[in-house]
Amino acid sequence: MALSYSQLRRYRTCPRQFEFSHVKKIPWGVSEGESFGGSVHNALKRWGELELGLGLGLGDRKKKKTEVREDQLGLFVEQAVREPPALTEEKLIEIWHDCFVFDTYKTRLEADFARKRGENLLRQFFIWWSAAPGKVIAVEKGFSVEVDGTTITGRLDRIEQVEQGVRIVDFKTTVPCTEAQADANLQLSLYALASEQLFDKPCTELLLLFLSDEGVVERATMRSASQLKDARTQIKLIYERMTAKDYRPTPSASACKWCPYRGVCDVAAI
Ligand code: SF4
Repeated sequence: MALSYSQLRRYRTCPRQFEFSHVKKIPWGVSEGESFGGSVHNALKRWGELELGLGLGLGDRKKKKTEVREDQLGLFVEQAVREPPALTEEKLIEIWHDCFVFDTYKTRLEADFARKRGENLLRQFFIWWSAAPGKVIAVEKGFSVEVDGTTITGRLDRIEQVEQGVRIVDFKTTVPCTEAQADANLQLSLYALASEQLFDKPCTELLLLFLSDEGVVERATMRSASQLKDARTQIKLIYERMTAKDYRPTPSASACKWCPYRGVCDVAAI
């Protein structure tokens, strides 16, 4: 059986939330916070692709189509050497406006506010990035990790090559966690396991990058062999409870506050 990390996370948040979403398949709407985070991730994916020399801006894509069409008509086309766009703050903001999804906001005013907040957030990211641009080797890299016969799938936001191995960067648009929470974060342990399989270099750093319009907060950590073994055990135990259909709810103010099913759940803690 294959599980995505988001399924694992939902089960850990509250087994009943997992039951609502993945067993009873009750649809949930994308919240404004999820939509905003998705837009930021898409913008940073495009930015990473530019760093890799892969990404083309909207204008570049149009230029390419025109070239192909003219070629097909047999017209003489002087092949212009297309320089990749410069990695400037203005380019990043242009990408942001291109990636921003406004459908989920209730009013135009809220959408405009979120768009401006995202612009400021990415300006803060640019300051962080330009202070020491890392050597990116992949963005939005899919992975699957085998844990006792179960396949866990997920995606790595950004992978950078560092002196002794690789650094995995995970972007967050939430409130920063503590150092201790980063050290115990199961998602990061899974990323370290994935890194072992994807790259022939050790994962020497796991970095949570909390982005906001006020600045960037880093939470750097790493995993030892015994921590990775412990992560495998945790995943195995969660999977065993899932297959035993143990959906007992674990209500808490923090989980229920953001739960998309709080309106239909009879034990919601709010
Ligand atoms: S409202 Fe709370 S208890 Fe109910 S499913 Fe959601 S997180 Fe679980």
